[in-house]
Amino acid sequence: MAFSLAQEFLKRNETYVEKEHKRIPLFSEMTFSPKKMIFSCFDARADPKNILGLTPADGAIVVRNASGTPARNLNDIIAMDKFTSLTEVIVIKHTDCGATHMTEEGIRAHIKKHSPDIDSEILDNFSMETTHETRKDVELIKNCPLIRKELRDNTSGLLFDITTGKLTKVI
Ligand SMILES: [Zn+2]
Repeated sequence: MAFSLAQEFLKRNETYVEKEHKRIPLFSEMTFSPKKMIFSCFDARADPKNILGLTPADGAIVVRNASGTPARNLNDIIAMDKFTSLTEVIVIKHTDCGATHMTEEGIRAHIKKHSPDIDSEILDNFSMETTHETRKDVELIKNCPLIRKELRDNTSGLLFDITTGKLTKVI
């Protein structure tokens, strides 16, 4: 059997359980709830934990996906807002993002190639939009009438420069 990273993780977790794990509070015991939602690319070079020094005290929920777009997660914003009354949403993009090389048409063609018998109706209903423009992604949230106005108004977009490590506000 080929080497599996999942198997390696199970081994590493044994060490974590033995040496590092401390009891994690249950929801009913938590004294604060996350109030900020951050969208970020799943590129390991732009990990918000590293570039922002995020800690649990920041009360941030981090959603990571291809390009860090909220396009497929607008319902998550609404659900979390209902759950914790969010105060802020931040979209973080980064330079040299792999998503700039992806197109929805290309992904659809990939699916068609490996699954030629797929029902085209299923494919038509499948959204794999990957935007890489910070402003466009923030406007998706700001223009979504289902998201509370105060939250839409408190949504911003930042850009992380892979080369310099600097974070700048775009919108
Ligand atoms: Zn990226």
